[in-house]
Amino acid sequence: MSQIATDYDAKPAGVLEKAVNGHRLTAAEILCLYTLPQNELRAAAHEVRLRRINPELTTYSIGGNIDYTNICVVACRFCAFYRAKHQDGAFTLTFDEIARQMEDLRRIGGRDVLLQGGINPDLPFDWYLDLLRFLKSSYPEIHVDAFSPEEILGLERLTGRDALHILSELKDSGLDGMPGAAAEILVDEVRERTAPTRMRTKDWFRIVDSAMQLGLHNPWVGMVTGFGETLQQRVLHLITLRDQQDRGLELYGSGFTAYKVWPARLEHTRLNGEPYQTDDDVIANEYLRDVAVARLALDNIQNHRAVWRTMGFEVATQALRSGANDLCGTGSINAINACIEAAGKDLPDPTETLIRQVRECIENAGFTAALRDPNYNILARH
Ligand code: SF4
Repeated sequence: MSQIATDYDAKPAGVLEKAVNGHRLTAAEILCLYTLPQNELRAAAHEVRLRRINPELTTYSIGGNIDYTNICVVACRFCAFYRAKHQDGAFTLTFDEIARQMEDLRRIGGRDVLLQGGINPDLPFDWYLDLLRFLKSSYPEIHVDAFSPEEILGLERLTGRDALHILSELKDSGLDGMPGAAAEILVDEVRERTAPTRMRTKDWFRIVDSAMQLGLHNPWVGMVTGFGETLQQRVLHLITLRDQQDRGLELYGSGFTAYKVWPARLEHTRLNGEPYQTDDDVIANEYLRDVAVARLALDNIQNHRAVWRTMGFEVATQALRSGANDLCGTGSINAINACIEAAGKDLPDPTETLIRQVRECIENAGFTAALRDPNYNILARH
């Protein structure tokens, strides 16, 4: 990082033109982006997006998230999801419970599902293989992305085998892809402070590389901000992801399909009250800047996603004019059902409502909404 800091003041001029004209930015130049007026930065990122991807369409998908267990022994300080094995609220879904969520997904025309969970040492490797076989035999039309690099590391420790073999067996049992989750900020100093027992950067890249080697789909990779990381550390995160993408595409013809950034929500975690927590306006502002910076920095990742779940539709609309070309779709069936239960009433069809809101958000950003499949093939225009 000293290299970035040394060059920082040297080249602020011309960085946006360089990026818009399709030239790769150095780490120092990416850091410079954070000093530029936000309207210029976001306009340049939007211009790059218009040049690289169909300028009329913004895509969305209909998919679901299934959290199969919240029992976890890693206990990240920023996580409000996990529970210890005997703690109130701890769960591991049965295959029947997972099937019910898959039926919900099928009912709304879902095409992909993302399964993730905690690091639960009580689940044997065969449980994962059986789950994938069950999903593929019962729901062959639904693309299955599952298990973050952290979960694969947990399986390495459980089985004594390496990621390449584990992922290979999972793939043979029906795994279509592995998400680039568990990245947050890929700088060990940040990880040690916020999640002392979480996987380190070296293991994350090793496991992602194994997945790319096997040609597994990677639906997205991301950055989670708001852990008191420096801008240099965000830049380092972007540069190392870009390097991995180069490597995956060159060696294996396989890489990250999309990138997304979102801010950490620390209110119900052990990091609540840390001095770097900020208010919503600051978070939204920073989020839009990070969306634009990523579009200009990650010249080898085609799709950049805007998130509405953490940011709301209004900010997501702005993100779609700041470099993003895809809007995270229906997301979590769990969350939808939880909303219905919390409301204590029969809502008409919350999923239909959600899909309508997603399309409106895209239209408000000035694009035609297009339903896509997991590989970004267009299925329908609205
Ligand atoms: S590994 Fe995942 S589920 Fe476990 S504590 Fe960390 S973020 Fe939460």
